[in-house]
Amino acid sequence: MKTCARSLAALLVLMSAVVFAQAPAQKPATSPAPAAKSSVSPGEDKPVSSLPYTPSLDVPSMDKTADPCVDFYQYSCGGWTKNNPIPADQASWSVYGKLAQDNQRFLWGILDDLSKKTSGRTPTQQKIGDFFAACMDEPAIEKLGAAPLKPQQDEIAAFKTKKDLAALLARQHLSNSTGGLLFNFGSDQDFADSSQIIAFAEAGGLGLPDRDYYTKPEAKSAEIRQKYLAHIQKMMQLLGDSPDVAKSEAQTIMEIETALAKSQLTRVQQRDPHNLFHKMDRKGLQDLAPDFDWNTYLTTVGIADVNTFNVTQPEFYKELNRQLQNNSLDDIKVYLRWHVASANAPYLSAKFVQENFDFYSHTLRGVQQQPPRWKRCVRLVDRELGEALGQEFVNRTFTTTTKKSTLEMTQRIEQAMEDDLKQLTWMGPETKKQALEKLHSVVNKIGYPDKWRDYSAIEIRPGDFLGNVKRSVAFEAHRQLNKIGKPLDRGEWGMTPPTVNAYYNPQMNDINFPAGVLQPPLYDAKLDDAPNYGNTGGTIGHELTHGFDDEGRQFDAKGNLRDWWTSEDSAQFEKRAQCIVDQYAQYVIVDDIKINSKLTEGEDVADLGGLVLAYVAWKQATSNQKLENREGFTPDQRFFVGYAQWACENQRPENLRVSAITNPHSPGKYRVNGLMVNMPEFQKAFSCKAGQPMVRENRCRVW
Ligand SMILES: [Zn+2]
Repeated sequence: MKTCARSLAALLVLMSAVVFAQAPAQKPATSPAPAAKSSVSPGEDKPVSSLPYTPSLDVPSMDKTADPCVDFYQYSCGGWTKNNPIPADQASWSVYGKLAQDNQRFLWGILDDLSKKTSGRTPTQQKIGDFFAACMDEPAIEKLGAAPLKPQQDEIAAFKTKKDLAALLARQHLSNSTGGLLFNFGSDQDFADSSQIIAFAEAGGLGLPDRDYYTKPEAKSAEIRQKYLAHIQKMMQLLGDSPDVAKSEAQTIMEIETALAKSQLTRVQQRDPHNLFHKMDRKGLQDLAPDFDWNTYLTTVGIADVNTFNVTQPEFYKELNRQLQNNSLDDIKVYLRWHVASANAPYLSAKFVQENFDFYSHTLRGVQQQPPRWKRCVRLVDRELGEALGQEFVNRTFTTTTKKSTLEMTQRIEQAMEDDLKQLTWMGPETKKQALEKLHSVVNKIGYPDKWRDYSAIEIRPGDFLGNVKRSVAFEAHRQLNKIGKPLDRGEWGMTPPTVNAYYNPQMNDINFPAGVLQPPLYDAKLDDAPNYGNTGGTIGHELTHGFDDEGRQFDAKGNLRDWWTSEDSAQFEKRAQCIVDQYAQYVIVDDIKINSKLTEGEDVADLGGLVLAYVAWKQATSNQKLENREGFTPDQRFFVGYAQWACENQRPENLRVSAITNPHSPGKYRVNGLMVNMPEFQKAFSCKAGQPMVRENRCRVW
């Protein structure tokens, strides 16, 4: 069952590669895994009781030997990329990734403390403390080996007819957070009426990160497929099958997944919400996949009476039905055994964890070493009990002053967008009126939710690691399904408070900035406004303009999928966005792979629009001040360097190849340089001359 992943990438995040996915495909969060030596240098691998400080404009992270008019990314980030090699346990390393790790080390201290206490803890503290302790108890987990998986595997072995599949799958969906069990099922806002929560039946069933992995003909993809087959075979052997049997099972699984993959929409097709909106009643669903017993499935997951579904990809369900018809009962069991083992591998003994790591992190993303256990356990508590852990984080790190000042910055950027919309020459009055209404309806969520999630229904037992995971997953699955037919909770968040990221949700029409992203070096109350507006201001502007990008603009002020643009204004928007699509299509990601700029369009447009708005808001915020040079830079230069330094990063080539297929964001270098070439304000700030690489003759501009 899907937990927080959304159908239409409804969460438009600022960064998608901050933490790498350790776990199987189609799952956004991270999972823990096993026995490993610490990979960070000695002394560094300790919990911390306060967060380290780095200023939001960090001169040593620059490379002043570089010419800002030739390569502004190198000029702003050259010192950072040189001084911050990718740690062995990471697929990439960035300012965001480093801050996320600082937060994790801080959370580690909190959890370590709570895990040792037996009295004086609140019920919530008991849960996160005992969850963490059970996760950290490696000897106990090792002793159990594959035993915790046995009940699930036995259940799969025992089912007798294809008709029984529905009840079995429902139970497996409720206890495994993976998209790999044939399909995804959950709930979400109705695209046509955002106040209603309806059931969503989505595509799924794959073990590789995207459908394209199964279909791309070139050598690198073929090589990954071969290694994937070898990985499945090894996992089946770990379950006790002989090498020969396991090898043929891997082929069977690959054939089913390939057929399912081919029926799925590409990521670019999924950017258009209309492609993902097919509302139907139970009969409609049954007609798409008549060989699956939907009544039993829906009864077993606890929504027997539900009769409205959005089937995001009907073609997928037709193919699913063909697979159920054409494969033997034994082949379907083989497929399910593999996916259940893969989903649970991170919670089992070291040999499972290692095999899972070797393929998903090492082979796919180039990660050299397993992250230390503490890190995997902190990430898991954040994923399963995020708002319980988040309260502890917020209480210690997020002041009311920061909340107030970042909210004020947000309001200034919204004002800048209002001024911008009013004076746009390419948008007519009809569309403008609706755009302003949408802008005025945007809800600002800063730091943490007003009301914390109630976890009291989850039982967390000391020493029961996998059981705790299962009960947490089931809690979340039921929580999602229980929303169906109830009033929408507009206060809910899609990210936990310590997360170093931000998002816009077009159906909620809200922008969300967790406490984790509103701290140095991203937001720095000790420094002047210039780098803060460049950095955090740029992020706020980015999320805000997502409401008006190729995807977000299709939703109205209420979050309903409704075209409120005149056809002339639509065409004008598309023309301007196409300028950016054409620009980014020229940039190389890795090897000879260029950016798929139809996939990154929304993010690239948001990056530019966001920085333009942040610049205007900063000028307005400081209009009564006499701004001074600092550290040898003019205020305008500080604004742009402050912006660029959020994006400093190092990437492994393997990870870049995954990004080229799956990541809607461009690499950091282009998220900086791709904007500078379009901004005359930048040219002026650094006195760049026409014809230099950071100055473009025909500039793109949407907002
Ligand atoms: Zn974004």
